Amino acid sequence: MTKNINTKCIHSGWVPKNKEPRQLPIYQSTTFKFDSSLDMAKCFDLEDDAYFYTRLQNPTNDAVAAKIADLEGGVAAILTSSGQAATFFSLINICKAGDHIISSSAIYGGSYNLIAHTLKDFGIDSTFVEPDCSPEELQAAFTDKTRVVFGETLANPALKVLDIETFAKVAHQNNVPLIVDNTFPTPIKCRPIEWGADIVVHSTTKYMDGHATSVGGVVVDSGNFDWQKHSDLFPDLTKPAETYHGSVFTDLFGKAAYIGKMTTTLMRDLGSIPSPQNSFLLNLGLETLHLRVQRHCENANKVANYLKDHEKISWIKYPDLMGDEDYDLAKKYLPDGSSGVVIFGVKGGRDAATKFMDNLELASIATHVADAKTCVLHPASTTHRQMNDSELEAAGVKPDLIRFSVGIEDVDDIIADLSQALAKI
Ligand SMILES: *Cc1c(COP(=O)(O)O)cnc(C)c1O
Repeated sequence: MTKNINTKCIHSGWVPKNKEPRQLPIYQSTTFKFDSSLDMAKCFDLEDDAYFYTRLQNPTNDAVAAKIADLEGGVAAILTSSGQAATFFSLINICKAGDHIISSSAIYGGSYNLIAHTLKDFGIDSTFVEPDCSPEELQAAFTDKTRVVFGETLANPALKVLDIETFAKVAHQNNVPLIVDNTFPTPIKCRPIEWGADIVVHSTTKYMDGHATSVGGVVVDSGNFDWQKHSDLFPDLTKPAETYHGSVFTDLFGKAAYIGKMTTTLMRDLGSIPSPQNSFLLNLGLETLHLRVQRHCENANKVANYLKDHEKISWIKYPDLMGDEDYDLAKKYLPDGSSGVVIFGVKGGRDAATKFMDNLELASIATHVADAKTCVLHPASTTHRQMNDSELEAAGVKPDLIRFSVGIEDVDDIIADLSQALAKI
């Protein structure tokens, strides 16, 4: 039976058999017991897929990964200890020293630092392009070393919308996959795989967890990219791997080769797994994702409409607002609402912004976004502090930008809070 995404939020992943626990059990165990050494040896040879050590796989983590794979329309997924780990793993699973990445410039600050600086130190080069660039501009960024294209459906915090279909098309013309960070819309509002993305990553820390309890990430594979067809570009997936006694990942794992390789090599060598306890909390969050995201979007829409005409607001960006520079792209990729995040500037610049934020009572100042409670942040002095002015501009982060993450409180109370804080500047 094909289920609606609202039902998948609740029922996918953990499917209890007769007399089993109704709620996903927490397998808080580092290891698993075996009756014979030979039994365990088979696991190390990938001849048996039994659980043996939680750094590689754990039943609680796997059930939650399977739910998210189902929500995104992928064939396999892996949970990571943070969103940053998910992005890092998604890239280095197919890129190594000497390779080249093309990325949208409008991405999360941490992803920008990772690609522009840390991966560069690893010998992986990168070129940044606009999220709404033309196919020709994107094509011009390719080199014979390019192995992947990266972008963010709805950029945190710039709220620029990625032209996923164009990015996927040009990536595929160049025989490489497209990876999309879909953290802000969540699969409730956009499923990038349906627009041609090959891999989807998330910081599950945000709406998926939704209650600000657990840092985490996930990588989802669509199973659509034909690694074997482009074997010359991705030999680590398609040729015998020394690291696994000459096994070939595309033979071993078929359509799930990308996640299979990530589990058996990157997780083995680098770690970065979530604790089963955190995965349990993430799963609780996922059970109400469809309800919460809907309310976040409704509330944010009302907040955006209230702010857009306010005399103390100098500018506002919310892609669902008619006239927004990303309105057309949002109508295409996020027709049912973008997210609960609204960005704006207040008249009076930085000082007024700080005063306004300090005067908020319901909304708290937090290095967070996308959880149940309304919160507010000034990225230029916090999350994007390491960027210079031109990098900030390329990322769409104005120095006076206030990121307002609309929670699921009663929207009248959120607007009343904004109103009293704006009255004081
Ligand atoms: C927060 C965030 C990340 C990083 O995730 P962590 O869980 O904080 O490591 C990556 N991408 C986006 C879009 C984010 O909002």
